[in-house]
Order: sequence, then C-alpha cells, then structure tokens
Amino acid sequence: MHYKLLTENNAKLAKGRDFGYYSVGLHLAPYKLSGFNVCPMASQGCAAACLNTAGNGNYPNVQKSRISKTRRFFEDRVNFLDDLCIDIFKAVKHAKSQGLKLSVRLNLTSDIRWETIKLPHINRRLWTYSLTCSSWITPKSPIVVTFE
Ligand code: SF4
Repeated sequence: MHYKLLTENNAKLAKGRDFGYYSVGLHLAPYKLSGFNVCPMASQGCAAACLNTAGNGNYPNVQKSRISKTRRFFEDRVNFLDDLCIDIFKAVKHAKSQGLKLSVRLNLTSDIRWETIKLPHINRRLWTYSLTCSSWITPKSPIVVTFE
C-alpha cells in the first residue's frame, strides 16, 4: 500500500499478521531532531538509545522524510491530520479486504499525546495504540498503550 504518512514496512508491525492484525504506524523524527520536540519526557540518554536509526531508519532519505513529516505536523497541522486520516481510511479498507483487524501505532518514534489530538473524521473505535515511555496516559484514554 502507498501511504503519504503511515508505514507498514516495519518488522515489528509485520508480526501482527500472525495474530489477525494489519498494523500501520507513523514514524516521526524523535526528540528534537526536527527542531520540534516530540518526546517531551525524554532524556538525552533516551534519545541516544532510540531505535530511530534501526532498520530502514539507517537510510538518509528515511531520516529526511521523518524530519519533514515532523515539521509538517507542527507547521501545517490541519493538512497533516487530514492526510493522516486519509491514510487511516485506506488502511481500514485494506485490512478489511485482507480479513484482518486494523491496528494503528502513531508513536513509532515519538511520544506525542495522541489522545489529546482530535483526528478529523475519525472516531476511535478502530484499534489505535500508542507506545510510550511516559506515564501520562490516563485510564480514560481511548488509546491502548504498551510500554517500551
Ligand atoms: S521515541 Fe521513545 S525512545 Fe525515542 S527519543 Fe522519543 S521517547 Fe526516547
């Protein structure tokens, strides 16, 4: 599938297939790499140990793309969220066509409080989960959380 913002090319995401899930995620440039901090709770040690440069993250064009997406998230939020929703709708359709459930992981390499950001056109009945290093998720969060 071709997505503007999301990725499905990630070894961890691919593992979900065996359990009936089609998983997609969003890679941003972690910590302050883009000039904007998407990991407000991270220490410099956390940033140094981050998996951002693992796998495809090793390639300069991938790093460039993550930085540009992150800048767009801050500088052009409305259009960024529109594109994200279009990607999610595509993923919903694709998951259905494969007989799989969809999971969306928006913090592949960031620690943004997605539960506080309204995604236009989307109600969160689809399985959206976030991976966080922080403890700020409340029990009322609509997002399923796993910890690194
Ligand atoms: S994505 Fe996670 S591990 Fe990487 S810098 Fe941010 S908080 Fe640390």
